[in-house]
Amino acid sequence: MRGDEAAVSGVLCFIGIGSNLDRPLERCRDAVQWLTDMDGIGFLRRASYYKSEPAGLSDQPWFVNTVAEIRCSLSPRELLGRLQEIEAAMGRTPGPRWGPRRIDLDILLYGQDVVDEEDLVIPHPEMHRRRFVLVPLHEIAPWAIHPAFGVSMAGLLARLEDPLRVLPLED
Ligand code: AMP
Repeated sequence: MRGDEAAVSGVLCFIGIGSNLDRPLERCRDAVQWLTDMDGIGFLRRASYYKSEPAGLSDQPWFVNTVAEIRCSLSPRELLGRLQEIEAAMGRTPGPRWGPRRIDLDILLYGQDVVDEEDLVIPHPEMHRRRFVLVPLHEIAPWAIHPAFGVSMAGLLARLEDPLRVLPLED
């Protein structure tokens, strides 16, 4: 299915996009372009770009983050495979879990589906704890419901305790 067909008939999904290496804003823009061009994915819109204080390993550059809203005619696992293809094509190399990265693409929400498999967990298991996810996701979908908690993004953001800063990025 072509991207524009997926845009009207697929499952509504949200993809987290982040980079803190090799001109991160350009890398995030490239990832948005890859999503726009990908078969089976209909790109709807993205949040603003934000700069985010790094989680995990603090001795690394700040990240640029955004969230994309897509419609998708792929299964969750197929979607994960496409995101990994994009990461590989964009030159991401293996590194530490919380370390610097050229591009990181995460499935945050896949409709109201809950997936709990060894290498695929949806909703993304960290999303409700991370300001760099909830701020852009809330910007475009404050009404979206976390299917495991039954709480909206507005509710999750209001209860969030993450002290790491997330600041709007002029683009
Ligand atoms: P990361 O280093 O954060 O990009 O983690 C990559 C690994 O997380 C991949 O091997 C995926 O199999 C796994 N993973 C589990 N759940 C998800 C998800 N919702 N979105 C993206 N990757 C996921």
